[in-house]
Amino acid sequence: MNWFETVLLIWIIIPFILFPILLKIRVPYGRHTKTGWGPMTDNHWSWFWMEVPALLLFPLLVILGPQEKDLLSWILVLLWIFHYFHRTLIFPFKIRTKGKKMPVFIMVSGIFFNLVNGFLNGYYLGFINGQSGSLFNVFAIAGIILFFTGYAINIRSDNKLIALRNEGNGYQIPRGWLFEYISCPNHFGEIIEWAGFALAARNLPALSFAIWTFCNLGPRASNHHEWYKEYFPAYPTGRKRVIPFVW
Ligand code: NDP
Repeated sequence: MNWFETVLLIWIIIPFILFPILLKIRVPYGRHTKTGWGPMTDNHWSWFWMEVPALLLFPLLVILGPQEKDLLSWILVLLWIFHYFHRTLIFPFKIRTKGKKMPVFIMVSGIFFNLVNGFLNGYYLGFINGQSGSLFNVFAIAGIILFFTGYAINIRSDNKLIALRNEGNGYQIPRGWLFEYISCPNHFGEIIEWAGFALAARNLPALSFAIWTFCNLGPRASNHHEWYKEYFPAYPTGRKRVIPFVW
């Protein structure tokens, strides 16, 4: 096993350890933000700094790497940029969380995750294997469709949540559309997105990203769901956490 495979193997194991821990610990940003986790920093700019390494590192490594890239590899780069352009440059400045802060520790953890994840995925396509296969095979097509479906669900849900802030002060119970089935359609969308990316890419770094996304966002959605039930005594009882009808 070479150094890349060793790092990747460790990276794939970590989220399985984190999953049960994150179910119990409400990571303190957004609605769960609190002091006691060290110095705090601005919420909007933290989002920007957390995500910008991913936006830049993955495409740069693919472009700079010596491996010859096929069309599907370049499409994967486009999908990645599509997501991270929004997450880095639009989402942080659209959220209406004026004055809100998050612990520097969370921001640094986010930067670390995006550096490693961007590196593993970019280094693989740029320096190890740039041949992702034919664009016209069932996995690539299904994966790309899944990616865009998840992307649309994620953005629409985030927009609906952000718009709730316009309708009143503080938090409200989201209603309608997928919110009738699950507490966190935005997380559901993002889980689908990176599962689709992994299906289209069919390589281990992309799979590791899909696993990380589920193991991070599943517990976050669960924490949100529990929070909703505590905050709103009349919270609808039939809603699942993040996977409609299942969990
Ligand atoms: P939330 O889903 O909690 O909220 C999104 C935005 O809407 C925030 O600005 C939030 O304000 C506001 N909001 C949420 N619920 C309500 C409500 N009921 N009433 C009024 N306003 C509300 O944010 P997360 O931090 O959990 O996720 C944000 C995005 O980041 C998602 O798209 C998620 O998929 C993505 N993400 C991805 C991760 C990954 O591993 N790939 C990790 C974490 C997030 P406030 O912040 O003040 O609560």
